[in-house]
Amino acid sequence: MNMLNALHCYIDGKFQPSESYFDNISPINGEKIADIAEASPQQIDSAVHAAKQALKGDWGQMSVQQRSLLLHKVADRIEARLSEFIDAEIADTGKSLHQVETIDIPRAAANFRTFADLAKFHTGETFVTDTLSGEQALNYSINKPLGVVAIISPWNLPLLLATWKIAPALACGNCVILKPSEETSSTAFLLAQVMDEVGIPNGVFNLILGRGNKVGDLLTEHSKVDAITFTGSSSTGQHIMKKVASGVKPISFELGGKNAAIVFQDADIDKAVAGVARSSFTNCGQVCLCTERVYVHREIYQDFVERLVKAAKAIKIGYPKEPKVLIGPLISKQHQQKVLSYYQQAKKSGAKVLTGGGVPNFGDERDNGCFIEPTIITGLSDQDPINQEEIFGPICHVAMFDSEQEVISRANNTIYGLAAAIWTENLSRAHRVAPKMDVGLVWVNTWFLRDLRTPFGGVKLSGIGREGGAHSMAFYSEATNICINIDKSEK
Ligand code: NAD
Repeated sequence: MNMLNALHCYIDGKFQPSESYFDNISPINGEKIADIAEASPQQIDSAVHAAKQALKGDWGQMSVQQRSLLLHKVADRIEARLSEFIDAEIADTGKSLHQVETIDIPRAAANFRTFADLAKFHTGETFVTDTLSGEQALNYSINKPLGVVAIISPWNLPLLLATWKIAPALACGNCVILKPSEETSSTAFLLAQVMDEVGIPNGVFNLILGRGNKVGDLLTEHSKVDAITFTGSSSTGQHIMKKVASGVKPISFELGGKNAAIVFQDADIDKAVAGVARSSFTNCGQVCLCTERVYVHREIYQDFVERLVKAAKAIKIGYPKEPKVLIGPLISKQHQQKVLSYYQQAKKSGAKVLTGGGVPNFGDERDNGCFIEPTIITGLSDQDPINQEEIFGPICHVAMFDSEQEVISRANNTIYGLAAAIWTENLSRAHRVAPKMDVGLVWVNTWFLRDLRTPFGGVKLSGIGREGGAHSMAFYSEATNICINIDKSEK
């Protein structure tokens, strides 16, 4: 496994040592794997300054085609160094090789290619305007970059989610400062190397490492940062929103979720069981889109639950590169304690634990890691904290319902609104129910099937704004209207 022993900040085209470092701990066995820099206030300031300067330099003069070409090179280089990226992501997160090589890293390359291509078609609007007083004008709009964009990303899909923001921000001509999660800095560090290797001009991409409540805070309150794009928990989002309020800066927020899956009596039960097992336990439940509440129609409830339990029990937990391993550990001891406390709380509240509910016993170094069992519970009310708060672990609560109207209202009864999955073979039901879900994204008979051109984001506490395709391009651009008066008199 590739060991990145010391991870440094990358500012103005240079890797820089920092005054202090903290430990990068493996979630597999609790051992230290690297030192991570904690950017100083001066380093944050120089990153912002470098980004501002870079906007005025070569980068600011580049045509869309030139920028697009460079971003394609970034994608190519990620693929050329694929195994290093895979190993780095696995070392930080412990997630399975299968997931990292099929989702995390390929999607990062795809993000750069998608937005590099979309930038070429990101055009403005044109209107010929006739006024009542007989004047005529040509109105058109141009897209300018926002300027310096601060990108704050989480640990659950580290490279994938960081590049989901970096790629469109750069494609639109901005300069960026990435602050990845302190839990997962390794692939961000490799990405900085890639940016350097392919010739992204100095100051265009800056990496500052460190903890959220120190480095993240200083970055979001920096007066010269022009926009903030954040993926993480709703509480951190609320905190950042207050911080940036005085500067009235553009913000894009992808936040938490408490997503429901609804299994109707006319579902293909095999597909629904496999789908709900996947949506509840993928990445050890650490995907914002994961299902934590499952509603099953009374007619098929018993059969469905028995099969779901069987599917959960069949999930192999273990070392990332062990054959057939599907899920690894949670990200940290702290997160393991949080998820376990929900397991305990559920038991205290009278939940029936159908499978899981604890920590697996390996009898080796992994017992010092952050592993946890996939867990299925029943018997709690919709109002119970287990059914209201985001747990972000491999747990789902299964409840029974009787009617379409009832289940829509119960599924919508949460402060979050990110995603929902509906399982039905009835076409009319699918079309009837999907638009009634109070979420940004509804899947029918599938889950986590993504097209990077579609709008992505949440309602309520799940976020502000949409990313994806034209939506990302719109967020990372400042549309500017130019109005040309046309003199109609012939000379
Ligand atoms: P988090 O909010 O703890 O941290 C996210 C990032 O914010 C990290 O880089 C962290 O260092 C930084 N941060 C923390 N405090 C900060 C502060 N005061 N100022 C500035 N930055 C700060 O979230 P997490 O635990 O890393 O990620 C899990 C959460 O992210 C879950 O709630 C999950 O639902 C959400 N998430 C949402 C989406 C989405 O697309 N909606 C995707 C992935 C994860």
